[in-house]
Amino acid sequence: MFWDEELETISQNKLKELQLKRLRDTIGRVYFNVPFYHKKFKEINIKPDDIKSVDDISKLPFTTRQDILDNYPTGLLAVSRDEMVRVHTSSGTTGKPKAIFFTKNDIDRAADLIARCLVMTGMRKNDVLQNMMTYGLFTGALVMHYGAEKVGILIVPAGPGNTERQILLMKDFKTTALHITPSYALYLAEYIKSKGIDPTKDLYLKRAYLGAEPYSEETRRKIEDIFGIDVYNSYGLSEMNGPGVAFECEYKEGMHTWEDNFVVEVIDPDTGEVLPDGQKGELVFTTLQREGMPLIRYRTRDISRIIPERCPCGRTHRRIERIFGRSDDMFIVKGVNIFPQQIENVLMSIKGVAMNYQIVLESLDNMIVRVEIAKDLFDGNVMHLVNLQNRITEELRKEILVKPKVELLEPGTLPVSEGKAKRVIDNRTL
Ligand code: ADP
Ligand code: ZN
Repeated sequence: MFWDEELETISQNKLKELQLKRLRDTIGRVYFNVPFYHKKFKEINIKPDDIKSVDDISKLPFTTRQDILDNYPTGLLAVSRDEMVRVHTSSGTTGKPKAIFFTKNDIDRAADLIARCLVMTGMRKNDVLQNMMTYGLFTGALVMHYGAEKVGILIVPAGPGNTERQILLMKDFKTTALHITPSYALYLAEYIKSKGIDPTKDLYLKRAYLGAEPYSEETRRKIEDIFGIDVYNSYGLSEMNGPGVAFECEYKEGMHTWEDNFVVEVIDPDTGEVLPDGQKGELVFTTLQREGMPLIRYRTRDISRIIPERCPCGRTHRRIERIFGRSDDMFIVKGVNIFPQQIENVLMSIKGVAMNYQIVLESLDNMIVRVEIAKDLFDGNVMHLVNLQNRITEELRKEILVKPKVELLEPGTLPVSEGKAKRVIDNRTL
């Protein structure tokens, strides 16, 4: 079922036309109303009229996180501050957060995109969504909340944490869907198992939306198996509204990017050159409908690729692949580039491994992978532990080409985060 069938299945040609119209409109607005963009465009001698096709976007300069920070808080607004009805922030890497402002229409459009995502994955008015993202300055919870409300879904605005209460809410309100970070979902799965709860009998869950941080296909499968539900990947970032930028449909093979609202590009992160569909690189987004704070060619640092093939669901908006990692999450050991997700993928595919892990970088050549394993393994034969440790080491070496030191821990040893998980501890002194 569709929320907006006409737009979701629009022909590629019509979509391109619509994008061009909206792109030109956006460029015009930032050129005349945002001094930062005016200056940037002037420097390379580009005028709004020079954009004759969507591909001409590659002539425009990028916007970076640093640009948002430098213009904190209101420097990038395209209409008066008085028109703004909400501000969200995201962590940012340095002291100041990145502030993103929304007009009333911006909020409404963000909610509309979420409505598409939820209906696309089978949600209806009679569903109950337990929203376990952090309510507050982050976009995750509130943007989803407004979208679900639009569909008419009952929302349980639980926020993260207090797992005992979460289960109570799930039972009492007959929650059918969760919106949750992958790391908290893994914790919740462990918790439910330890309490002897059978999710397929004691709960009413049908699906979960996992996003806000990278996770592996193996993690998805693990959560699906334990809860007996469908897990859909949800991608977004505050700079582009928050959740609802790209979302999986029933086929769960890549996430449809709502191209009537965003131009998506994949670039070579080193040269800035646009890569053809299918090639892996850094995602870059341009807003097409934003009034308050339009952003041109925003560099996400997220690594993915555009899937060129049509999706059998009938939606024409191109899909992006599961995020491979953030370029700033990547670390180097013995000269090899490694993403935390590669390690997660291996760990989650090994029987006996529980839900939590941590990567500790000791030096340029040494890393430790600390991994929680099933409790009963500690009570059994010690040789089993040694075998498991060797197996994990060997499987990791095959994947990342570096042999880590592997430590096995009892469940509950490693810290659990309520927000985004911190998987990598960097003890290297440079
Ligand atoms: P930040 O984490 O930079 O403070 P946000 O809270 O806006 O900013 O989070 C957006 C980031 O979260 C994305 O750029 C991406 O790195 C990550 N993210 C969000 N959803 C997913 C997902 N489904 N898979 C992988 N990474 C994701
Ligand atoms: Zn699809």
